[in-house]
Amino acid sequence: MVVASCTPRTHEPLFRKSCAEAGLNPYLFEMVNIRDQCSWVHMQEREDATEKAKDLIRMGVAKAALLEPQEPIISEVTTRALVLGGGIAGLTASLALANRGYEVVVVEKEDRLGGMLNRIGKLAPTMMGASQAIKRQIETVAKHPKITVFTKAKLVGIEGFIGKYKADIETETGVKNIDTGVIVIATGAAVFTPEELYGYDGQRVITQLELEERLREGLDPSTKNVVMIQCVGARNDQRPYCSRICCQVAVKNALLIKEQVPDAGVFVLYRDMQMYGVENEKLYKDSKIKGVRYINYTPERPPEVKDGKVSVFHALLGQELELEADMVVLSTPLVARADVQEVSQMLRVPVDENGFFLEGHVKLKPLDFATDGVFLCGSARYPANIREAVAQGLGAASRASIPLSKGSVVVEPIISVLANEDACRGCGLCVDLCPYGALEIRQTEKGRKVHVIDVACKGCGVCAATCYRHALTINCFTDEQLEAQIEAFLGR
Ligand SMILES: Cc1cc2nc3c(=O)[nH]c(=O)nc-3n(C[C@H](O)[C@H](O)[C@H](O)COP(=O)(O)OP(=O)(O)OC[C@H]3O[C@@H](n4cnc5c(N)ncnc54)[C@H](O)[C@@H]3O)c2cc1C
Ligand code: SF4
Ligand code: SF4
Repeated sequence: MVVASCTPRTHEPLFRKSCAEAGLNPYLFEMVNIRDQCSWVHMQEREDATEKAKDLIRMGVAKAALLEPQEPIISEVTTRALVLGGGIAGLTASLALANRGYEVVVVEKEDRLGGMLNRIGKLAPTMMGASQAIKRQIETVAKHPKITVFTKAKLVGIEGFIGKYKADIETETGVKNIDTGVIVIATGAAVFTPEELYGYDGQRVITQLELEERLREGLDPSTKNVVMIQCVGARNDQRPYCSRICCQVAVKNALLIKEQVPDAGVFVLYRDMQMYGVENEKLYKDSKIKGVRYINYTPERPPEVKDGKVSVFHALLGQELELEADMVVLSTPLVARADVQEVSQMLRVPVDENGFFLEGHVKLKPLDFATDGVFLCGSARYPANIREAVAQGLGAASRASIPLSKGSVVVEPIISVLANEDACRGCGLCVDLCPYGALEIRQTEKGRKVHVIDVACKGCGVCAATCYRHALTINCFTDEQLEAQIEAFLGR
């Protein structure tokens, strides 16, 4: 069956299904994309576009004549989840999975669960105590019969694919081998330390995270003037992104300073206030009513901190202001954790240019990776507030529970196959280049030969294009089929 119409990305599964319903093997189907490749790109060249469409259809027919029936690949799933990171996102995901009846193993590298919330005082926008928020989660996780927690632990090795991962977890009592069907990455993010910026010394010039600790202990009542500087080390050439949560944190802490020392003057020097959400906007307004003052600065004329004073150019007044400051608080961004590359390479999942884990699709797959069976939530993905981290934890658990509940995964058979075993020399070149870890070298009676782990293979074609011996081929994209297409084109 050959259909010449629009993109296979959306319509191929539909037509394959129709073929199956009509009793034809769904892989005896070829789709020719004359919409994207002809009518769209050659809108102004109608005659030529029509000729090209004819070529493409002839090529599709030539290929279709050589198509072989294929069967979907089915593989069993170990009904256990491995969650990396025991912050609010990881704990939420773990509880959601365990409450659905699945075994969960939580791996936390610190000596206790809770992540960043262990270091925060009150939480915007509700001003609930962070330790109160996390305590209940930690206790429920700790006594849940389906959850095993390893603290001071880390992933040191992993092999396998969706449904059948074997993870090596280094713990205080040695390395544990865990079989798991799915993996959730919830490793959070770190706070950027502003060494050599604005006279940062951890005493008088501190970060918002350090201020959280002082606010928890109670501020010195003699605190008179506090100046906060936003976007320190963020939205610049090294870190071009907005860390999203820092404005909210600054406004929250400005309000808490006013609560503890009502007479204190609090100035926030900002580039843009990112107070997304109704509750955050209200906090911002409340803080102005309570006397917090906001001054806009530009990156071209950043504030300067010197001898207990902060000078800033006030763009609206058009003049330089000098502010007294017995405490300067720098709002620094969340940054990727130091071991992010290690985790990314082990699990073969990508990170973006800022070191945050990169989801499968920015709109349609925000909690998945292109690699099946690995999911993502919380600040590991991008700086998140708690509400977002919790929502993502629930979402990742929901996504991860799909293969767990089915007990098996069905994979499209358009994958790599060792079509010519004798040709393979077991050189391992294709193994090194496969982006999904879907190939391995095995010792056989005929010597070293490549083996395709069919469930892990995505049919990307890298291996078949790499193999100089033409040992590998891709189902539905064999050399013969591609050659037939070229012949059909040339023979017009
Ligand atoms: C100063 C400050 C104030 C904040 N105030 C607020 C607020 O008022 N309101 C609000 O909504 N949000 C606030 N936040 C944001 C909040 O902290 C985050 O939303 C939340 O911590 C995200 O949770 P998480 O689980 O994704 O990450 P984290 O809390 O960072 O937890 C990740 C966990 O993973 C562990 N881990 C890391 N790498 C590994 C590894 N390789 N293997 C195993 N474990 C690993 C870490 O040790 C950590 O325990 C604030 C953040 C900061 C920095
Ligand atoms: S399939 Fe080709 S590239 Fe891969 S191991 Fe065999 S000979 Fe080497
Ligand atoms: S087709 Fe792609 S995913 Fe499959 S084995 Fe080859 S390189 Fe790996």
